[in-house]
Amino acid sequence: MKKVLVINCGSSSLKYQLIDMETESVVAKGLAERIGIDGSRLKHQPAGKDAVVQEEAMPDHNKAVEMVLAALTDKEHGVIADMSEISAVGHRVVHGGEKFACSVVISDEVIKTMEECSDLAPLHNPANLIGINACQQLMPGTPMVAVFDTAFHQTMPEKAFLYGIPYKYYTDYSVRRYGFHGTSHRYVSERVAAILDKKAEDLKVIVCHLGNGASVCAVNGGKSVDTSMGLTPLEGLIMGTRSGDMDPAIMQYIMNKENLDINQMMNVLNKESGVLGVSEISSDFREIENGCAEGNKAAQRANDAFVYRVAKYIGSYAAAMNGVDAIAFTAGLGENNALVRKEICSYLEFLGVKVDDAKNNVRGKETVITTDDSKVKALLVPTNEELMIARDTMELIG
Ligand code: ADP
Repeated sequence: MKKVLVINCGSSSLKYQLIDMETESVVAKGLAERIGIDGSRLKHQPAGKDAVVQEEAMPDHNKAVEMVLAALTDKEHGVIADMSEISAVGHRVVHGGEKFACSVVISDEVIKTMEECSDLAPLHNPANLIGINACQQLMPGTPMVAVFDTAFHQTMPEKAFLYGIPYKYYTDYSVRRYGFHGTSHRYVSERVAAILDKKAEDLKVIVCHLGNGASVCAVNGGKSVDTSMGLTPLEGLIMGTRSGDMDPAIMQYIMNKENLDINQMMNVLNKESGVLGVSEISSDFREIENGCAEGNKAAQRANDAFVYRVAKYIGSYAAAMNGVDAIAFTAGLGENNALVRKEICSYLEFLGVKVDDAKNNVRGKETVITTDDSKVKALLVPTNEELMIARDTMELIG
């Protein structure tokens, strides 16, 4: 039985899933939190059993990987007899720059190229590399694959990825739009084709990945042709705490008014803006949803601005592709918030989107949420980035 360990490593956290590739089912999953910080803990969840929480110091990622492997092979709550049952490891890597247009088997050369991309994602890529390094040390000889968040969007044409700034910044410093959530957009757009019983090549799909981080992607014939995130994940939609699109001159204006330096300003745009900043309530949309239900105006204005921005992007991507056959909603909010889906779709009636309220009253299950006569279909498709990473890994290691 082939099993793939999927690792998603952040600066102080490590998420994992062990996936049985014969059944494509999750054998165990878990999260190591507060790595390198006081109070670190590992939550290990074997499938069909109670979760086990282990509170133990994790000074670095090596210790975290060590604890994950110990949990997976533990006599009581483990799921495999020993590490040799892990055929390969698939790593999520945030930024592949222009170097990686698909997943790759990790070699010394690949790591060197990934280090070169770290400039573009200083918050994410170094953590991903630390995770790869820790696994390589503890699992020597186990093949490893890198799956990039940006790779799916490398098919974007130049007219979509260029910014309206001097071209030399692209040629000299690689400043262009890259896009993220690519593994999710790829998975969901493929599922849309399968659910509608069509070939991906024949479909124009718009995928809305609406989580804490959120992005929209135009997928034409199975290929990403535009997406809302840019050089970094800050561009595009109004997100949980990120501003999304805005006039860049706002930065200078606020920095002068509030005497902020550029790092403080970036912190405002990444951590204090978005739904949190506009509502002054929370970045969690559940609280916004509750606030709206109670008639809270601050919650309502954040909800309305969020919904409006998503609808605007969908409209612009319908133009970018000269049409659209299906619109898919995914991630925390897209999979769980029927009202947001309905409100977004209500802007799109001109395109021929007709929501069926009864069908839309669903959570986390693949569903066509439009009426049978709706010209453009809208769907709820739960994302599964880990499975996509595991599939790529198996395919590459053979
Ligand atoms: P990320 O992976 O980017 O951190 P998620 O995909 O988990 O984010 O989405 C987080 C958002 O989804 C939050 O705003 C949250 O309110 C919403 N969400 C997640 N689960 C639910 C749920 N069961 N019901 C309603 N909203 C949910």
